[in-house]
Amino acid sequence: MTNKNLRSLPAVHAILKTTTIQKLILSHGQENVVSEIRVYLDELRNMLGKVNHSNLETSPEAIGLAVGNRLVTNFKPKLRKVINATGIVLHTNLGRSPMAEEAAKAAYLAASGYINLEVDIETGKRSSRQDSVREWICKLLKCESATVVNNCAAATIIVLKSVAENREVIISRGQLIEIGGSFRLPEIMKVSNAIMKEVGSTNITRIKDYESAIGTNTGALIRVHTSNYKINGFTESASIEELIALGKKYNLPVIDDAGSGAVIPLNCNGFNEEPNPITSISLGADLTLFSGDKLLGGPQAGIIAGKKEWIKKIESDPLMRAFRLDKMNLAALEQTLLLHLNSSSASQKIPTLKMLSVSMDELHEKALQLETKLKQIGFCDKIQAKISEGFAGGGTLPDQQMPTWVVDFSSPLIDTQSLSNKLRTSEPSLFTRIKDDKIVLDLRTLKNDEIDITVQVILGALKTN
Ligand SMILES: *Cc1c(COP(=O)(O)O)cnc(C)c1O
Repeated sequence: MTNKNLRSLPAVHAILKTTTIQKLILSHGQENVVSEIRVYLDELRNMLGKVNHSNLETSPEAIGLAVGNRLVTNFKPKLRKVINATGIVLHTNLGRSPMAEEAAKAAYLAASGYINLEVDIETGKRSSRQDSVREWICKLLKCESATVVNNCAAATIIVLKSVAENREVIISRGQLIEIGGSFRLPEIMKVSNAIMKEVGSTNITRIKDYESAIGTNTGALIRVHTSNYKINGFTESASIEELIALGKKYNLPVIDDAGSGAVIPLNCNGFNEEPNPITSISLGADLTLFSGDKLLGGPQAGIIAGKKEWIKKIESDPLMRAFRLDKMNLAALEQTLLLHLNSSSASQKIPTLKMLSVSMDELHEKALQLETKLKQIGFCDKIQAKISEGFAGGGTLPDQQMPTWVVDFSSPLIDTQSLSNKLRTSEPSLFTRIKDDKIVLDLRTLKNDEIDITVQVILGALKTN
């Protein structure tokens, strides 16, 4: 019996002739298809040798279909769409800032064709890729000049190296941040060949601490925004105004690592306490840096704005070639900047700004919709729309809770942690929070057109339980 079954397995060349497999070869390539057929035949042989699988389909067509399913699974893209119901707007692990439609379209156009990345259309002469965004940044921030690199981490490195290589950079002990990953200020200083000169203490640094540290080898003064932590209690730090005045007195450049780039005022808790790059530029900071994908709401980028002479020096550094922004991000950044030049359209069209400034009434209405729809599918318990607290994320506004509307629920069919895992591994993937042993869906980060699909994903996960 077993031997007969084994002998009945078709040969590779017979399977290759089937129409199913011929189609698969077009979509996946001969090599991948043949190797998957071999793997599958080996597995079949193995199974047939052990037990009697009289109802195992071994026709060339059946094998073709099975191989097709396996190829789809094996070549499923690792990067997929995610529905973010965590309420964390700048969720770094979920790609931080979603971009405005205008920005995403510009990135698509740049990606799928040719653009005048480094050529002046009028003269036909070679130009700098930075020209596309420089003027808009200068208009928006009212600075002399600007340049952009891959992210704010790269901006910090190239700025420190250009301004203070082999010289001391004075920094408060209260601002030696780690942003996550391996971005730690002391290490960034080392990589940049700047000599870190710490002053003050963790909780208190006064302007006179900076002043007494100034010596013949001082290259710059830096203020780093403590984006992702707050020191509370008995604290003091020098203001950017004081630092700039001190820089002027000793003719030293002042660098402001503003971090999140809160450029336009927004009706959102704590937002207006984030350092505004426009302010430090107007006060006279030599260089101000911030991320493109935090509160600017654009693509990943590091924006460096400030004095012309420094920008020139930065652009002539060999690191610039390694750190420069690619065409897709440049195109998306340009559109994001254009939207920012009209502050009312910015808060409507840039998703990050829209989500951060959405009214509680609007969130409430969405929560009621979701609550009703969840109640209709069954399988869930204790479904409730309610007010809760959320965070901006992305290392911004770390201690600033934002009131938000959520819908939370549990299911009698499955424990909450397992359900959360199931939702995450669904198609599309749904990311949620867990609180008090319930799944929490935060309406702040759920788009209007994602409510129905969210309900479908939950239903799917509970049904197949
Ligand atoms: C977020 C942040 C950075 C790093 O920015 P990326 O764009 O993520 O590289 C650097 N400095 C400060 C103060 C930040 O908040």
